[in-house]
Amino acid sequence: MAEKLALVGIGKIARDQHIPAISGNPDWSLEATVSRHASVDGIAAYQTLGSLLAERPDISTISLAIPPQPRFDYAKAALAAGKHVMLEKPPGQSLAECFALETLARNMGVSIFATWHSRFADCVPDLKSWLAPRDLKRLRIVWKEDVRHWHPGQEWIWEPGGMGVFDPGINALSIMTEILPHGVHVSEATLEYPENRATPIAAELRFADPTGADVSAVFDWRQEGLQTWDIEIETADGNARLSLGGEKLEINGELIKEGSNNEYPNLYAKMFDLVRNRDRDMDLSPFIHVCDALSLGRRLITAPFHY
Ligand code: NAP
Repeated sequence: MAEKLALVGIGKIARDQHIPAISGNPDWSLEATVSRHASVDGIAAYQTLGSLLAERPDISTISLAIPPQPRFDYAKAALAAGKHVMLEKPPGQSLAECFALETLARNMGVSIFATWHSRFADCVPDLKSWLAPRDLKRLRIVWKEDVRHWHPGQEWIWEPGGMGVFDPGINALSIMTEILPHGVHVSEATLEYPENRATPIAAELRFADPTGADVSAVFDWRQEGLQTWDIEIETADGNARLSLGGEKLEINGELIKEGSNNEYPNLYAKMFDLVRNRDRDMDLSPFIHVCDALSLGRRLITAPFHY
């Protein structure tokens, strides 16, 4: 029998990805939505999580597709009610919130999943396998996109906890932490803040790598024209380029694979496994890099940003 699920936050990512992925997976049944302003045709709609929790004890799982700032309160209420919880990335607005949620999930004996959708892009496992036996010399993340195109009118990304350019940048860091066979940590960062905003519009990061490899990242939200979501890798034994956010892989200049976008179907398949096994997956390593960059970063003030 399908697991009954409620989706909270009927915004951009819910409509673009969550609803099609849930509908396409017979293991899940979308029973209800929670949204202050929106609903989905044919699905029971609740305006508050409290009313859903009170009226729908049959629902086992809550998927949160809201921005990071309100996520902790929603996740805490759902876990405290004994529900399994799936968190959009980033899993919260602070690390301590995430630790508290993981502890609560463990105490309640329910599943929690800090999702990193980019890790589920088609070519990421291929790159991970290719890299595993090789000596890394250089890894460079280049994540440059147009915030006006991808986040039209979204004010929460500019508010404390919204993370600015790290909202997409954390996707690259989620791939890096998945494919690297060893840990790295942020050693230096430069962050550019528009003078009228609380979060950065661009960032340049350097990482300390225990093997001495040159590991760095650049994130920029001011990119017009060609959008770039690339990870370039040099090893002692060949080069690789992951592009299109993980959908295309070239090795030594030769196209190895160009996949399609299966990230969210893969996420919901994984969540079903976690729920079935009462397991938890709360890897916070991409978020740790962002928090360290925000802590260590040299802050530059740049031109004001307006939509
Ligand atoms: P969004 O469209 O701006 O917001 C999603 C929904 O959350 C809104 O429709 C709103 O629904 C609800 N919401 C907003 N502020 C809230 C608040 N303070 N309290 C309660 N609910 C609130 O955002 P999104 O682009 O879908 O992003 C949501 C999450 O998905 C973010 O963490 C983001 O990083 C992640 N994500 C986004 C994308 C993307 O392409 N946009 C891709 C991957 C992951 P109501 O007003 O109707 O309640």
